[in-house]
Formats: sequence, C-alpha cells, structure tokens
Amino acid sequence: MGKILVEGVGEVQEYVDICDYAVGLSRIVGGPILPSERPGHALIEQWNPVGLVGIITAFNFPVAVYGWNNALALVCGDVCLWKGAPTTSLTSVAVTKIIAQVLEDNKLPGAICSLTCGGADIGNAIAKDERVGLVSFTGSTNVGKQVALKVQERFGRKLLELGGNNAIIVFEDADLNLVTPSVLFAAVGTAGQRCTTARRLFLHESIHDDIVQKLSKAYEQVRIGDPWESDTLCGPLHTKQAVEMFLSAIEQAKCEGGTVVCGGKVIDRPGNFVEPTIMTGLAHDSPIVHKETFAPILYILKFKTEEEAFAWNNEVKQGLSSSIFTKDLGRIFRWLGPKGSDCGIVNVNIPTSGAEIGGAFGGEKHTGGGRESGSDSWKHYMRRSTW
Ligand code: NAD
Repeated sequence: MGKILVEGVGEVQEYVDICDYAVGLSRIVGGPILPSERPGHALIEQWNPVGLVGIITAFNFPVAVYGWNNALALVCGDVCLWKGAPTTSLTSVAVTKIIAQVLEDNKLPGAICSLTCGGADIGNAIAKDERVGLVSFTGSTNVGKQVALKVQERFGRKLLELGGNNAIIVFEDADLNLVTPSVLFAAVGTAGQRCTTARRLFLHESIHDDIVQKLSKAYEQVRIGDPWESDTLCGPLHTKQAVEMFLSAIEQAKCEGGTVVCGGKVIDRPGNFVEPTIMTGLAHDSPIVHKETFAPILYILKFKTEEEAFAWNNEVKQGLSSSIFTKDLGRIFRWLGPKGSDCGIVNVNIPTSGAEIGGAFGGEKHTGGGRESGSDSWKHYMRRSTW
C-alpha cells in the first residue's frame, strides 16, 4: 500500500506475534464456574464458536488486521472469510497462500481461511448474510456505520474498528526531548495513513513556539521517497484521491483560519507524494480539525489549562488513541481516570500510534467500540451459554 519497508516488516511480524499469542490463548479461553443459589445445582459459563467470521479490512494495514482476526477466530473454533481492500488484493493473495501452506501441512481444509475479492458489493453481501456469525469490519467511520446498520437489521454480531482523530497533549513539565521524535513518528509515520496517526497536537502556551520551531526543523529533514529504500521515512499516499483529499483539507483549513508552517504541497514526482504538513492558527473546534483526513497533516493548537486540553481531546466524535507528555503523577492519574481521556487507547509519554498485541485494541464513540487483539477480545469471536 506504499508504507516504508521497516513498517511493512513490522506489520508481518505482528501477524507472527498474534499467532504465538493465540496458540497460548487457545489453552485458557473458558468461563467461570459460579455459585448456584439452588442446592445441588451447578452454574457454568461455556463459550462456543460463532461459526463463520466475515473479515472486511482497510487498505492501510493489509496484513496485520487480518492476522489479528484470523488467529483469534481460529483458536476460538471459527472459520474465516476475508475480504481485503480492493487496492491491496495482491497482499491478500500472498498472505492467503502462506496460510494455505500451513493448513495443508497440518491436513486442515483450506476453506477454513477463505479469501474473496471485491469492493463495496461483496462487503455489503457479507454484512447482510445470515450465515456470517460475526462481521469484523475495519475501515472508515462512514462505511462502518452502513455495515453496522446492515448487520443490526438481522441482529447479527459486529466488531467495528473505525476512524480516529488522535491528539497528543504536551504540558510545560514534559521531558521535551521525547516530544519531537514522538510527534514526528506519530504524525508522519505511514504518511499519516494510520488509524492511530496523531492529527492534533495541543501544546501548553509556554512551550508552544519552541516546539513548533523544533518540529518544523525535524519535518524538513524527513526523507520522502521510494518506500523500498531503507533510508526513506515517508512514502507516498495510497491513491490520487488521497492526494486530492490532502489538498482540499489544506484549503479548507486555510479558509477556517489556518496557516501552513511547513509542507502543504504535492511533490512533483511520479507517485502520490505529498509534503508532511504542520498547520497552526486554527480553533480547537474548527470543522477541519474534527475531521479525519487520511494524510500527514498535523494541526497544532495552543492551550492554557489541563481542563481545557483534556476537554479538547474528548470533544471530537472519534475515540481511538490519545497521549499526554508530562512528569506530573497527579495529572497522569487524572488522564487515565473517568475525567481524563475518553479513548480506547490512553498513552502517557509515548505517541498515539503503535499497539501491543497483548492489550485490547480499539476505540470508543465513532471509532466503533470494538476490541481486537489481546486481553479478552477473543470474546467477540465466541458466544456465551450459561449452563
Ligand atoms: P474504507 O471504509 O474505504 O474501506 C474499508 C473496507 O470496506 C474495504 O475493504 C472496502 O472495500 C470495504 N467497503 C467499502 N464499502 C463497503 C460497504 N458499503 N459495505 C461493506 N464493505 C465496504 O476504508 P479505507 O480507506 O480502506 O481505510 C482507511 C480507514 O480505515 C480510516 O478511516 C482508518 O482510520 C480506518 N482504520 C481503522 C482501524 C482501527 O483499528 N480502528 C485500523 C485501520 C484503519
């Protein structure tokens, strides 16, 4: 899909890791034995497979997201039907060939991990089909909503991993050496095409100018180019439409009072290359700041108080990832608590992007509320019966 080599390798490694995780998990999925109020009775929870899991995935993680679903579904006793993004179908074929070999070596029928091509038509058919026990959808909030309504119409199960609009908040007491590389990694990594990309940066007014200057300098040094070359840090956008969305977001942001501090242009070379962009001067509640534009645009805003910064973090519709940089322990616990971040992923002194497979991954509100990967995410792939 155009991500740089090291990120591609990392994504494949994530599939390997979730397979290891799932093998261990297969020995511990189970329900509790509960005390019964009736003498001589037993009360037991049993988890059974949901059957067929329909997995619809986005272009930007064409390997790992299927891996998260596939490995857990298999150890839960389910079978999988995968529909990847239409623009990354060769990756889907390559992954399925590797799985096919593993199944063959273990004398298992290949159909338990089936692949289908297609776009919205096939995705829609999966959503509507009563035979699909769970529809696991990763993609944009708009499409996710349509899928959710279709699945709900038949009272099916769904697992939604949708768009994010992730913020990093930097307080005046933060270790400022951590901030520039963290923000750069989170905002420019995968050319801004991660669901966990940092799109909003809130800087305390006392450190604002200093950090904007340091970040601009760092942005100028980002090597943009062929994603296969080992020293490239930023590859292309996925499609021509993505380049158009990048340009129209910058235009809209300018109309809403924004100023381009660095970047802002399409790069004149073959491919869909754009300059990673920083914008300042926008209001925290400008429509463009509340929108997920899947491109490397970072909106930087100045705040005065903790209360204000936490409120800005939470005021967007999406609720995927969030980070604060601070050394204040009291503030850290307020951030993690009920009045802190309302996101599914809540970070301290690390950026918004990146995930560990051991934890449950997903987000709240318009991010869909699903959880994949570690912790008790396996419960999505099973149905509970109480004996
Ligand atoms: P997209 O919504 O355009 O497409 C996602 C998938 O849905 C594709 O396979 C597509 O063919 C399919 N699809 C399209 N229309 C459909 C319909 N009507 N019914 C059923 N399926 C349909 O998303 P994209 O551009 O491929 O990916 C980018 C989006 O995905 C971003 O919003 C990003 O934040 C999100 N994303 C979220 C996570 C997460 O874990 N929360 C992870 C990766 C990507």
